[in-house]
Amino acid sequence: MTYQELKDQENQYVMHTYGRFSIALDHGKGAQLWDVEGKRYIDLTSGIGVCCLGYDNEKIVNAITEQAHKIMHVSNLFTTAPMVQVAKTLVEQTGMGKVFFANSGAEANEGMIKLARKYSYDKYGEGRAEIVTLRNSFHGRTVTTLKATGQDKFHQYFFPFTEGFAYAEANNMDSIRANVNEHTCAVMMELIQGEGGVMPLDKSFVQEVAAFCKEHDLLLLIDEVQTGIGRTGSLFCFQQYGIKPDVVSMAKGLGGGVPIGAVMANTTCDEVLGPGTHATTFGGTPMCCASANAVLSEVTKPEFLQAVQEKGKYLEDKILAMGSDKVKGVRGLGLMVGIVVDAEERAALVAEIMDKGVLVLTAGTNVIRLLPPLTISYEEMDEALAVMQSVFCK
Ligand SMILES: *Cc1c(COP(=O)(O)O)cnc(C)c1O
Repeated sequence: MTYQELKDQENQYVMHTYGRFSIALDHGKGAQLWDVEGKRYIDLTSGIGVCCLGYDNEKIVNAITEQAHKIMHVSNLFTTAPMVQVAKTLVEQTGMGKVFFANSGAEANEGMIKLARKYSYDKYGEGRAEIVTLRNSFHGRTVTTLKATGQDKFHQYFFPFTEGFAYAEANNMDSIRANVNEHTCAVMMELIQGEGGVMPLDKSFVQEVAAFCKEHDLLLLIDEVQTGIGRTGSLFCFQQYGIKPDVVSMAKGLGGGVPIGAVMANTTCDEVLGPGTHATTFGGTPMCCASANAVLSEVTKPEFLQAVQEKGKYLEDKILAMGSDKVKGVRGLGLMVGIVVDAEERAALVAEIMDKGVLVLTAGTNVIRLLPPLTISYEEMDEALAVMQSVFCK
């Protein structure tokens, strides 16, 4: 089918929820993708940070295939080895306590919010259920996680939203204090605001929030849905911030392309979500966990994480070295890179880069966001950089 035939059918049968690019993708290898008409692209998106080991990764494909022959899915009424192994790896790598499995980032965050409220309910009873999140954050698209998201534009149409969220300014400790009261049970944040524009939080602010939470028995909830699983050059971003969160959510990169999310909490929360309090049919399903185990076996290697840091630095240095006046700055960590441009120029820049065969993302109002597969090669990066240079330096 041609792009146009496919698009016509999509328009007829699929809800028009997404503003899609005029590209229909067919298959990939490494950090390269081909569309249905055979055009080749260097992919700096990895499906919004999902396909962290690239496309057609042999380890992942084999793990999924083998597991599919054994059992794809059983209910959570039974124990399975792949699920236990994912949890064991996550706990051993982080020193956290226990893991709950979900299917997406929003669902992981729902679990994290429920855990925080139940922790407080168990200890203090009713009336201590508010969660402070940050302005410009993004936590998901369910009715609750939309409200947790600290951007007014997400608080439309779907009323009534879940109550109990307050919004503080990032990097402003006074604003955190001003939003915490006797009803507060937790503070929830991304360490690098992804959708908000690749905005890394100040280390000192994050450490102050952590100490403040400890002092007031507020749970520190870190949303690592985008930053987790090696993206920033450590397994989790919090490991570079020198903090020990109470709860961490993850999803995007965890399955390397299959839908899986998880909530990981420290040992003080081991018994909070006891039998019957929380569940999900597909959570921890063996096929997705087999894939996650393949991902984790790679991204936990120190040399792999070191390479992510070096590649991120390489991209940043090369983009800055272009000396383009269209590039106002580059920020991020590891292979989570934000190129700051003029808001009015961004759409045209992105269209031209895509047209020349490099796929990129946007974030915030004025950022071109790069989330390439963590396995991207230097040849693939050089090819993408040459295209970006031709667009930025016309
Ligand atoms: C993508 C994202 C989510 C939502 O994840 P879904 O899998 O789309 O539900 C939540 N938090 C952050 C930080 C994200 O980047």
